[in-house]
Amino acid sequence: MEKVFLLLGTNLGDRAANLSSARNLIAFRTGQIMATSAIYETAPWGKIDQPGFLNQCIEILTMHAPEELLRILQKIEKEIGRETTEKWGPRLIDIDILFYGDRSITLEQLTIPHPYLHQRRFTLLPLAEIATNIKHPVLNKTVKQLLKACDDNSDVQRYN
Ligand code: ADP
Ligand code: MG
Repeated sequence: MEKVFLLLGTNLGDRAANLSSARNLIAFRTGQIMATSAIYETAPWGKIDQPGFLNQCIEILTMHAPEELLRILQKIEKEIGRETTEKWGPRLIDIDILFYGDRSITLEQLTIPHPYLHQRRFTLLPLAEIATNIKHPVLNKTVKQLLKACDDNSDVQRYN
């Protein structure tokens, strides 16, 4: 069993319901959810002419190997009804693998830890809630340290 941290993101439709569907399918198909962060609302990033995102981090315990896990998560994204593949564009649900245990993986279709994890406040803020002292296996810093060092000052607020 490996401890895996995921980032969920959505900026279309009923965003809270999209997160909830994703959590249910993830728990059912990949493994037990051990922790969930609060939900945050995030100003759009990269491509800024689109609605704001809701983001949430979750920790799961999974038996699935990294590439298999990615395939399962991509199938869940499709089922929830992702309509666009535009990079950084609007989507019903985006599921990214942030950490997979302490592994570092570089494949054409999969980079772990997630390559932008340390640059994005909308990732670090929810992640810090449930993984403060987890160490980034490549940068050798804890999530808490990465958050402190992150100079992304985009607007990330707790959502309720
Ligand atoms: P983004 O998440 O950057 O907004 P997409 O969700 O469209 O963009 O993902 C683009 C590709 O990123 C996917 O086809 C997937 O193969 C690849 N990818 C690489 N590393 C990861 C990772 N750690 N988690 C999820 N997808 C990843
Ligand atoms: Mg993605």
